[in-house]
Amino acid sequence: SYFQPEFTARSAAVRVRFAPGVRREVAAELDRLGLTRALVLSTPPQSDSAMAIAEDLGSRAAGVFSRAAMHTPVAVTEEAMAHVAEIGADCVVAVGGGSTIGLGKAIAYRTDLPQIVVPTTYAGSEATPILGQTENGVKTTLSDAKVQPEVILYDAELVATLPLAMTVTSALNAIAHAAEALYAQDRNPLSTALAVEGMRAFASALPRVLEAPDDLAARGETLYGAWLCGTVLGQVGMALHHKLCHTLGGSFDLPHAETHAIVLPHAIAYNAAAVPDLLAPVARIFGGTEPGAALHAFATRAGAPLALRDLGLSEADLDRAADLAVTKPYWNPAPVNRDGIRALLDAAWGGRAPG
Ligand code: NAD
Repeated sequence: SYFQPEFTARSAAVRVRFAPGVRREVAAELDRLGLTRALVLSTPPQSDSAMAIAEDLGSRAAGVFSRAAMHTPVAVTEEAMAHVAEIGADCVVAVGGGSTIGLGKAIAYRTDLPQIVVPTTYAGSEATPILGQTENGVKTTLSDAKVQPEVILYDAELVATLPLAMTVTSALNAIAHAAEALYAQDRNPLSTALAVEGMRAFASALPRVLEAPDDLAARGETLYGAWLCGTVLGQVGMALHHKLCHTLGGSFDLPHAETHAIVLPHAIAYNAAAVPDLLAPVARIFGGTEPGAALHAFATRAGAPLALRDLGLSEADLDRAADLAVTKPYWNPAPVNRDGIRALLDAAWGGRAPG
């Protein structure tokens, strides 16, 4: 049972709609909120999706800004802020993955403008009050209620265009939020239930998506998993896995979703030694007896990248990565020691199954 006799829970007031084609409801959502001057955001490769939504919005679209970039660079946010002021935007509509959603959040942080988000990956940023920003090569993270998007429209048709390699790594990125939520110090029965259901949705739907990438029912179920996993990310604290990925992404410039996908089975195996009961649902859901091995097998079946070496990390970097990973202490269910982390990184670098 997930029940804990004592807990504190929090949840955000968010309106969430699921339906194939629901991206065409942005206009109706703006009307509901009395908004009339939207700035539509995207990355350069997704500018067609942004233009299509702007077209649907008609006179409610005051502008399109298609220069969102990975890790929310402050320089790009400032450019977009000038645009917001120039056109007198009264809300932002973000169409894309964590990079585009991050830009919308950065604008909302500075202006408190409402956000309508149409997510196209499984990263889950739309469901959190968390904002990461980069300036002069340094990434800082903050949490603020202003940053939490007000409306989320999950459209299976949009995520159906996500290339298969990114589909797999993005799904594992989402699963990572749920897996770490199971042992969060500030977990509660609801966060655990959301995490278990989010992982179940991916375990069931991802193989069906890989069989038939346009299967909208299966795509819809993966988006449902992304929503649940993103929601727990916004509600409870993360530990070893997210810290390691932050270090590898920040100091070695490794790509976000791929790094999560590779590190996850190893981080979970490391922690399973300390909290086997809390992580038992992972093994049950992904099929196996050990949670880390079960995730590794699931990732292997899905064709995920398995080795940090394949992302361009050199073996000579592993010592420095291990040093960096233990410089700032943080809470984790298992003690974080340099030898243990060095061994974990070694296995993840070589693509071996976790010990
Ligand atoms: P992303 O948004 O950077 O997208 C990667 C690329 O895929 C982009 O070029 C994008 O345009 C393209 N793409 C996205 N969806 C597509 C689709 N359906 N079809 C075709 N192309 C598509 O990747 P991401 O993994 O979603 O986001 C990563 C970023 O989000 C990182 O900066 C990460 O730190 C941040 N993030 C933040 C939170 C939070 O709560 N603050 C949570 C998760 C991730």
